[in-house]
Amino acid sequence: SGKFNYGEALQKAILFYEAQQAGPVASWNRVSWRSNSSMLDEITGGWYDAGDHVKFGFPMASTATLLAWSALDFKQGYEKSGQLKHIQNNLRFVMDYFVRAHVAPNKLAGQVGSGSTDHAYWAAPETLDTRQAGMRPTYYIDEAHPGSDLAGETAAALAAGSLVFKDTDPTYAQTLLNHAKQLYAFADQFRGKYSSSITDASGYYNSWSGYQDELVWGAAWLYRATGDAAYLTKAKTEYNNLPKEGQTVYHPYKWTHAWDDKSYGTYVLMYQLTKDAAYQIDADRWLDYWTVGFNGERIKYTDKLAWLDTWGSLRYAANTAMLALIHSGNITDATRKTRYQTFATDQINYMLGDNPASRSYEIGFGSNSPKNPHHRGAHGTWADNLQGPPAQSRHTLTGALVGGPDSTGAYTDDRGNYITNEVATDYNAGFTGALAGMVQNYGGQSLANFPKVEQPDSPEFYVGTKLNASGSKFTEIAGWATNKSAWPACPTTAVSFRYFVNLSEGFAAGFKLSDYVVTVRGGTASALQLWNSAQNMYYLDITVPGTIYPGGQQYYRKEVQFRIGLADQINAPAGAWDPSNDPSYAGVTGATGSEDTANPNVPFFEKGVLLFGKSP
Ligand code: BGC
Ligand code: CA
Repeated sequence: SGKFNYGEALQKAILFYEAQQAGPVASWNRVSWRSNSSMLDEITGGWYDAGDHVKFGFPMASTATLLAWSALDFKQGYEKSGQLKHIQNNLRFVMDYFVRAHVAPNKLAGQVGSGSTDHAYWAAPETLDTRQAGMRPTYYIDEAHPGSDLAGETAAALAAGSLVFKDTDPTYAQTLLNHAKQLYAFADQFRGKYSSSITDASGYYNSWSGYQDELVWGAAWLYRATGDAAYLTKAKTEYNNLPKEGQTVYHPYKWTHAWDDKSYGTYVLMYQLTKDAAYQIDADRWLDYWTVGFNGERIKYTDKLAWLDTWGSLRYAANTAMLALIHSGNITDATRKTRYQTFATDQINYMLGDNPASRSYEIGFGSNSPKNPHHRGAHGTWADNLQGPPAQSRHTLTGALVGGPDSTGAYTDDRGNYITNEVATDYNAGFTGALAGMVQNYGGQSLANFPKVEQPDSPEFYVGTKLNASGSKFTEIAGWATNKSAWPACPTTAVSFRYFVNLSEGFAAGFKLSDYVVTVRGGTASALQLWNSAQNMYYLDITVPGTIYPGGQQYYRKEVQFRIGLADQINAPAGAWDPSNDPSYAGVTGATGSEDTANPNVPFFEKGVLLFGKSP
């Protein structure tokens, strides 16, 4: 057996995809702090890319293809650990999105939300429809604005997805395959780089390697899904046009399979499908460069980690590990079989805690795992500020693999660092797949009663109260209706709060209800309403205008000031107005009298429904 419980690591890695769900969350979504969001998007659903809320189609499709590949080749690993249903659920969720995004044979939505608008706002996705309504554009590729990389990769994802559902839901599988075929034809016939068509994507997921690799990749997956020899011929032809590594005569071997360049996956897949040695040689050269070296050159290592690049270093190693496991299972050369399997095991173990810092890089797994990833929803702030408050993230983003250490192996759990401490659907792709392979090879048990339901850290909705002014005949209060919701975040409209007073002392002095007045600023107040006549108890309903939501200092709470007491012109004896017996007054003065502290005696309502606090 292995060094870690790979079944648990796998179970958690899959859960991360549920934290990333956009649109209506699936009925089977297990993340207790997530809810529906971006319901106004032109194409709803899909995954939020990373710590942000853009739906970038290119990495989404690449991720889906890798996950689907793992669900096919490491099906046993998923089955053994009870995770097959979960990976299938999550794959179906993203496949549904691709189907919706494919609005016409030659038209595909490749991105929803703009990078700059989205990145300027640090809050939970459940607040997007309030804050960014109308600000989430949809970007398409079509005949006049082609994107062979994006369409080719989405075709690959759908073809791989069709194989995943072939036995359990053949009708659905056929639908996916039909879309895959159309998208591939579109990719092939209308050639171009998607990031030249969807220019907003170029600052985030620029198509550096171009589309040649996806033309091979898409055809290879369609061949695997259909068995149609025409796709194999196509894949072979396009393969020969793959570029060369630098000045060498070899196909690329110094990078790895990730959202941009699929060449590496095509070496492995084409060998798997054809058993033609030419493809194995390309795959071996690349994996040798990552292990023992090729031509006297080897990838950089820090401790046992093969380290390719600054942004998301672990993701590159994880993707390579997954493909190394697949390739190792396909080849017969005993030395390389062991070499690649050992490599994959070392990489995954490093991520799970077998590293000089003895820390796990998978959130919520193992020892000393990250707590403050660069992720808006997991932070749960109300201040639209990645520093907080609060300083510590409120949610555990279970299963997410963080970017990872720099080239020296150094890493800090710093939310502000999106290079080493962001998470992404793409970072978890090869990682999840490799873990399924690890379970298949070494075993591993998933946890029972998973996941735990998180409990709110403090009241999510409340009214903070402070004494503004007081006199012998009145009390003036500032009330802050506050929404710090995060389980899930939830904008509130038609908020009101209720303030209770006891008028016994005034009535005893001979005054009656009509002698009292209420004035209000920043909201509206009802007249004094009877609560309990035996106790001379009355209340006011203060209504707060607009929407209150955890999306910034001026949005997460609203202040309403109100004054209550005997009318100015009344001549009142001492003691005829005394707030000390008013139920809501407890919590208005002293240490608790603050806009930051919940006053439970001033209940908070939304649309008349009590969300926090109590009545006397
Ligand atoms: C976002 C990250 C993104 C980074 C670089 C940040 O503002 O929060 O999600 O990776 O910008 O684009
Ligand atoms: Ca490419």
